[in-house]
Amino acid sequence: MQRTLSIVKPDGVDKNLIGEVIKRFEKAGLKVVALKMAHLTKKQAEGFYAVHKARPFFDSLTTFMCAGPIVPMVLEGNDAIKKVRDIMGATNPKDAAPGTIRKDLADSIESNIVHGSDAPETAVFEIGYFFNATEILK
Ligand code: ADP
Ligand code: MG
Repeated sequence: MQRTLSIVKPDGVDKNLIGEVIKRFEKAGLKVVALKMAHLTKKQAEGFYAVHKARPFFDSLTTFMCAGPIVPMVLEGNDAIKKVRDIMGATNPKDAAPGTIRKDLADSIESNIVHGSDAPETAVFEIGYFFNATEILK
C-alpha cells in the first residue's frame, strides 16, 4: 500500500473536471483517503513547488497555481505513485499518451490539469503540506 498526493489544478477546477479526474483515479482502484478544496497564496504555492525554485517557469507556475481554487487529495493503493503518474500522462500534453488526463483534457505544459507526487519522499512532504494526520482516513 502506498499513498500519494494529487491536485486538481486551477484550470481543472475552472473547467469542471474535478469529478472527471477523481473518476479516473477511482476506476484504477485508487482510494480517496483525504480530500479538500483550497485557494493557495503565492507564498504557499512557492513553498509547495520549492524544488522548482531555480526553474525559469517558477514564477509563472506559482502564479498559475494560486489563480483559483484547487482540489488536493490523498490517494491510496498498490503502487499509487506510479499509477497516478501513468493516469496523468507526461507533463506536456503534446507528449502525453492517448487516454491520459493531460492528453485528453490539458491545454499546455503549464496548464496541465493535475499534479501527482513523483517519489515516496516527495509524497510524504506533499501530503503533509495539505493534510494533518487526523484528516487522512485510516
Ligand atoms: P509534473 O507535474 O509532470 O511532475 P514537473 O514537476 O516537471 O512536472 O513540473 C511541475 C509543473 O510545472 C508542471 O506540472 C507544469 O504545470 C509546470 N511546468 C513544467 N515544465 C514547464 C515549462 N517548461 N513551462 C511552463 N510550466 C512548466
Ligand atoms: Mg513534478
